[in-house]
Amino acid sequence: MSTFKIKDVLTRVYNSKRPAVADLELLLSMATAPETRILYAYADQVRKKFAGNGILLRGIVEFDNNCRNNCLYCGLNRKNKHIKRYRLTQSQVLDSVARMAAQGIKTVVLQSGEASDLDAEWLAKVIREIKQRYHLAVTLSVGEQDVRMYRLWRAAGADRYLLKIETTDREIYRSLHPDMDYDRRVNCQRNLKNLGYQVGSGIIVGLRGQTKHSIARDILFFKRHEFDMIGIGPFIPHHQTTLAKDNKGEALLTLNALALTRIVTRYSHLPATTALGSLEKDYRITGLQAGANVLMPNFTPQPYRRYYELYPGKRCVNEAVGACVPCLARLAAGIRRHLDYSYGHTLIKKIGEGKHG
Ligand code: SAM
Repeated sequence: MSTFKIKDVLTRVYNSKRPAVADLELLLSMATAPETRILYAYADQVRKKFAGNGILLRGIVEFDNNCRNNCLYCGLNRKNKHIKRYRLTQSQVLDSVARMAAQGIKTVVLQSGEASDLDAEWLAKVIREIKQRYHLAVTLSVGEQDVRMYRLWRAAGADRYLLKIETTDREIYRSLHPDMDYDRRVNCQRNLKNLGYQVGSGIIVGLRGQTKHSIARDILFFKRHEFDMIGIGPFIPHHQTTLAKDNKGEALLTLNALALTRIVTRYSHLPATTALGSLEKDYRITGLQAGANVLMPNFTPQPYRRYYELYPGKRCVNEAVGACVPCLARLAAGIRRHLDYSYGHTLIKKIGEGKHG
């Protein structure tokens, strides 16, 4: 497509309150180097204007890999009998958080599978301790839970919650999540928003049955719901799941979706995801030049890190706790950006910086 035509469509998409699905599909199809250069440069400008030049850090602790769900793409699904299951103790979680705080990181992401016996009080206590001792922003990513649990954790001090929709195509959603319900997931996101959490969504790119049309609709969903953060990563097949033989998601389509999400949502925090960095090369670098403004160093202690195997080949599984930050500083310097050690609360004005922290 000509440079003139691409720029014309980009301007239309950027300025529209409800961009046309056909325009988004067209831009998702950019494939040649000159085409993607224009798309990513546009997204990069939008990122600079609305999210600044810094790269925010979110330290992640994967504290429990038990799960009651059977997401067909995920290595943690309950039917996978080959992985070693673990649950960290409170002091193991807090040790990791201490290491993170000592490196100046201001956000911890506490992530887990959806353990059927997750103790809400246990997690509330961890949140309180983190707030009292280290004053970090706390993001939870522990799946679909009862609203009373969301309320308890919010009262304990949790600021944000990540619950990716994975795909907004109901048919695909149903086929990949045999005993889950799309509306329940959307309802959880609504409950979280009503409780004052900063809410994150996101998708996996390259899922069985997914098309550019459905990804275009995902991006419109992100715009409608004004998510504070949106994670977009490629599907990576796990050999012990039903989707073992499926193709992995393409870096190109993932990057195009990321760039368009920046252009359409403007203010959302967008990580250059670990999955994007776990393909044949580290595409997080391209991601950061195509709209992303967040990196997520891993602070899960050894020897547990390798057991949180959502997909194989996950980067940094053998690194020691704390080793990721110097590496990310080099990565940022390589693209003339800097790591940003601020809280990095939502940029979406209606929620506001003042309420959290
Ligand atoms: N259980 C929580 C939930 O459902 O939100 C959080 C943990 S879940 C294991 C974390 C994320 O891993 C999911 O949102 C999904 O997008 C991603 N994931 C799982 N398997 C994957 C795969 N094979 N390839 C890429 N991403 C995957």
